[in-house]
Amino acid sequence: LLHGNKAFVVNGGRADLTVVFAQVDAGRGWDGIGAFVLACPDGRAPDGLRAGERHRLLGLETVHAAELHLDGVFVPDDDRLRPRDNISAALGRLFARAALVNAARQVGLARAAYEYALGYTQERHAFGKPVAHFQAIAFTLADMHMDVESARWMVWRAAAAVDKAGDGGHAAAARLVAEAAVHANEAAWRVADNGVQLLGGAGYIQDFPVEKWLRDTKALSLFAPTDQLQQLAAASESLGHPLEAAWPSSAIQPIFT
Ligand SMILES: Cc1cc2nc3c(=O)[nH]c(=O)nc-3n(C[C@H](O)[C@H](O)[C@H](O)COP(=O)(O)OP(=O)(O)OC[C@H]3O[C@@H](n4cnc5c(N)ncnc54)[C@H](O)[C@@H]3O)c2cc1C
Repeated sequence: LLHGNKAFVVNGGRADLTVVFAQVDAGRGWDGIGAFVLACPDGRAPDGLRAGERHRLLGLETVHAAELHLDGVFVPDDDRLRPRDNISAALGRLFARAALVNAARQVGLARAAYEYALGYTQERHAFGKPVAHFQAIAFTLADMHMDVESARWMVWRAAAAVDKAGDGGHAAAARLVAEAAVHANEAAWRVADNGVQLLGGAGYIQDFPVEKWLRDTKALSLFAPTDQLQQLAAASESLGHPLEAAWPSSAIQPIFT
């Protein structure tokens, strides 16, 4: 029986399948987490599962995110997911891949903002020439491109390391994943911010897409694991010992739909 509440669930209350990570053995930390599949065919939720109001978001307006309330939801044993090895290793693999997918989205967003600003600043003339030909603008465009390229290469390098590590060795790639994820978040924020700046007033109005990318990149940078946790993971590798090991609480853990 699952009990608990979870906020910010993408497609919460709408998805046909929902995977709930819940702690079943508090003494075993990450290894005490179970993964349970809840089927909601045609929107029919099992007894005890209820979706709350849709969250109103700063960006990503098309994303339906809502709270889920679980009050004694029965899950048959057959609907418990059992990894080949152990749940903490499976969670490590899951979060590494999820972090890289999200980082790749940030690279795409940053590229879009850079390319838009590059085009706009060549077309927009002020004081007799394209604004891109003013040094301050040109230098910013160069910085934006470096952010896009460095983020892309770090994501590719980390993804290759995860593939190479295979099922058992994702920990070997943990630092590359953490650093790629944080850098992609920070780079995308800088590029989107510069995109708004280089468009001037046009950057701030909704007739142009750059203000949306600025709002969306912040939302993406809050998907789990957050920058702070990734930075702890990266620094732990550098220092050679774990920092503030994150220990799951008895509350419901992430939910994926
Ligand atoms: C648009 C959107 C969609 C989402 N979709 C989903 C989804 O589908 N499924 C799902 O399960 N979740 C989803 N989330 C939730 C997301 O995973 C959490 O918001 C995220 O994990 C952070 O948790 P929190 O909000 O509880 O922050 P908190 O845990 O309250 O953290 C607050 C701040 O403290 C920092 N912090 C927390 N712990 C530590 C620590 N040990 N050391 C240092 N710093 C720390 C955090 O990084 C953050 O800056 C979504 C969130 C958003 C914004």
